[in-house]
Amino acid sequence: MVTPLAALNRVLTEDVHAPLDMPLWDNSAMDGFAVRSADCEPGAALEISGYIPAGGRPEPVVTKGCAVKIMTGGPVPPGCDAVVPFEETVEGEGTVTLQEPVKAGQHIRVRGEDVAAGDLVLSAGSVVRPFEISMLISSCRSQVAVCRRPRVAILSTGDELVEAGETLGPGQIVNSNGASLAAAVLACGAEPLMLGIARDNPESLREKLSAGLHADVLITSAGVSMGDRDFVRETLEELGVEQVFWKIDIKPGRPIAFGTRNGLAVFALPGNPVSSMITFEELVRPALLRMMGHRRVIRPYVAARLTHAVKKKSGRVQFLRVAVSRQADELIASSSGDQNTGILKTMLRANGIAVLPAEADALAAGSLVNVHLLDERALMEEEER
Ligand code: AMP
Ligand code: MG
Repeated sequence: MVTPLAALNRVLTEDVHAPLDMPLWDNSAMDGFAVRSADCEPGAALEISGYIPAGGRPEPVVTKGCAVKIMTGGPVPPGCDAVVPFEETVEGEGTVTLQEPVKAGQHIRVRGEDVAAGDLVLSAGSVVRPFEISMLISSCRSQVAVCRRPRVAILSTGDELVEAGETLGPGQIVNSNGASLAAAVLACGAEPLMLGIARDNPESLREKLSAGLHADVLITSAGVSMGDRDFVRETLEELGVEQVFWKIDIKPGRPIAFGTRNGLAVFALPGNPVSSMITFEELVRPALLRMMGHRRVIRPYVAARLTHAVKKKSGRVQFLRVAVSRQADELIASSSGDQNTGILKTMLRANGIAVLPAEADALAAGSLVNVHLLDERALMEEEER
């Protein structure tokens, strides 16, 4: 159980019923005068017999020929069946003159009109947005049951790696995958657990991987292809992780491996920063979202027209980093730059990943492609310009 605010972006595991009517009493939808509509021919002058602010107590019964000044949210006093906004009145010394015809019921929010006591207001499986939080709080909930956030252990592997902030020696590079994967885990609502760096030898890998076996998910980067120091898969196997697959026909990210051990899911991602980010996005993120109870786990596809030809090998799905923008009434997609997985800055220029089908071997300029939009805001800002 968590507080409604802590439930943001998480999935409810319980149905929520309203404990009370909403609103709980008839109240005014406008600042104005509560009146008895039967007394209100246009031009009628009514005596002002009371004042009800928001939070005010209900007044005694309003009698014929009287009106009560009332603010938005104030409880409508017994006897009254309409509210006349200030804009449609002229106020004098202790009286108010009505200028417009008055209909019974106007500008009154009726008890229970939003939700009646006992109504199902939120159902298990819903994703909590600020709107759902509003409904939870309005339903007097201080705690609500949501799906657990999986703990995701993240291990970078490689003899060449140093942590950010350390001085780089010859041949060394900073471990950027650790932080980028942790950020991606956080962004989808799960909880990263940093295991640091393992070296490219079975002893170091065994020690660091063991620390991740009690998490819900273990993600490793690098050491999973054909190199003679790629020991990740065999060490995982030694630790009891059963390999489900290794290598899939995608580019980038072909050497990815996946395995399980007593409910632990292990993703061994390739080391290239671009490959690890794209395989996370396309394969790990949907899995994490599903574990967190989300029903929609794949980003929606948009159709976009390629501005240029793309060459590819048939037999592999290719993930093309693209910049998507709007042109006239359609979306267009251009490569965000050199698609070599060593080129990190093409991730920065990309707001989408075009998923090119395995069977295609070349796509002509003007072809329609399916794109996972990574950042809808980028597209919106463009429209605003
Ligand atoms: P590997 O999969 O071990 O062959 O690594 C592929 C490439 O990714 C190599 O150039 C590595 O130096 C690089 N790499 C591996 N791990 C990381 C990491 N944690 N951060 C940044 N680059 C990495
Ligand atoms: Mg390596």
